Amino acid sequence: MIRVLLLVVFLTVSAVQARGPVYVVLWFDTEDYIEPLSDEAALRLATDLRQLGVKATFKVVGQKARVLEKRGRKDVIAALRWHEIGYHTDFHSVPPAPAVYLRMMDGVTGSEEFIRREQAGLKDVSRIFGVKPSCYGQPGSSWAPQTNSALRRMGIPMYLDEGSHVGVGHQPFWFGGLFYVFDMGLYVMRASLDADDFEASCRRFDEAAAELSAKGGGVISIYYHPCEFVTTEFWDGVNFSHGADPGPAEWKRPRVRAKEDSERCYQILNRYVKHALANPAVRFVTGSQLMSFYQPGLAGHKVDRKVVADHMTARQTFLVVDKTSLSAADMLLLLLGVEPRLVEGPASEGKTTYTADSVDRRRFDKAKAETVAFVKAHGRLPATVWLGSDMLSLEDLAATLASDAGGTGAVAIKKGNPEFRDNVAKDPEKTYGWVIHPKGFRAPELLDLARLQAWTLKPAVLRSP
Ligand SMILES: [Zn+2]
Repeated sequence: MIRVLLLVVFLTVSAVQARGPVYVVLWFDTEDYIEPLSDEAALRLATDLRQLGVKATFKVVGQKARVLEKRGRKDVIAALRWHEIGYHTDFHSVPPAPAVYLRMMDGVTGSEEFIRREQAGLKDVSRIFGVKPSCYGQPGSSWAPQTNSALRRMGIPMYLDEGSHVGVGHQPFWFGGLFYVFDMGLYVMRASLDADDFEASCRRFDEAAAELSAKGGGVISIYYHPCEFVTTEFWDGVNFSHGADPGPAEWKRPRVRAKEDSERCYQILNRYVKHALANPAVRFVTGSQLMSFYQPGLAGHKVDRKVVADHMTARQTFLVVDKTSLSAADMLLLLLGVEPRLVEGPASEGKTTYTADSVDRRRFDKAKAETVAFVKAHGRLPATVWLGSDMLSLEDLAATLASDAGGTGAVAIKKGNPEFRDNVAKDPEKTYGWVIHPKGFRAPELLDLARLQAWTLKPAVLRSP
């Protein structure tokens, strides 16, 4: 009997080891600074999860942190701090939302403006919780690419949220130098607090976990808002819909749930988390823990140059080879002989004006040298390079450089194929749909800017166990 039992244990353990880990990142957008009952909800959730030994990530709004401090809720602050703290903007839904003001701005100006508007909130959350937030996520669907460089400069290395603006295979990726958990598709899930779908949610979770585990491991993203457990409508929807901007004296409180109904909601999450915990492949992690299980964004260039050249000749997009993930930007730098470094995508769309089908080597070498100098001076890829008085777009330069076999003769010009653009959404209205945005809001400019930044896009790769 014992032998059989040992065998079963051994088989189970080896089955788990052969398969990959399933990391579950559970996050709460902690944002309602109007209804005080939301404070109780945050406390209750933090306490319940701690009892289950599960660390979640609470992304806190600046004004929410200040309100907790003002209401003397040291208990809530301490309970949340046991978990992990992220940042979720200073005022969340007070207009203008990030995408609304950033839509009008280029990469550099937008990044500076985001910092100007958000640094006070970040400072307050850091001071009140006594920790530096590990991650950021936008309010609603108000995502914008300028936040990438802004967040890096603010010392936040991770983007944790959900949206469909940009993504890679519904798993974590690197974008603009940030580690992203975003656009998780079927791997973003939750048990509904109101629809009667608990059993179906558990089944979906099991299926997703089995799939990821069989693929060698991956991430499931689960999110809630503490306010959902105590109110039946969102605190911001009742005040700031379609860009409305009432003053604090006019703020209305959302409708609240009956006490028993809240209790029912807490139980749903409790049972859902317990269900997930029962799966031996599953491990709950915070945002920063998750990031530590992935290889860093800047891997060394140990990849064969020829593999990169062949890939970049045909298409400019990311490549994973020998567990090393390379963005189109990484590979362009490799082909240019530049040490791995973090760069921004080009600031604007470049157009080729050069019409001949080849260029003499002297001018091509000069264009390469100028590209390297530009990257080193600006930390960004150029939109175009000069061949005499004519220009070559960056993707055409990349394809030409990749297909060039060297030597002394003329260099054949090759047309670029920037496939990385396909990872950015095309619908500027649906992606920005959110009741808080002004009616009919669309932001094609932000998606265009994201397509330029997608030179830096690449899948994140789990570290070897
Ligand atoms: Zn939010």
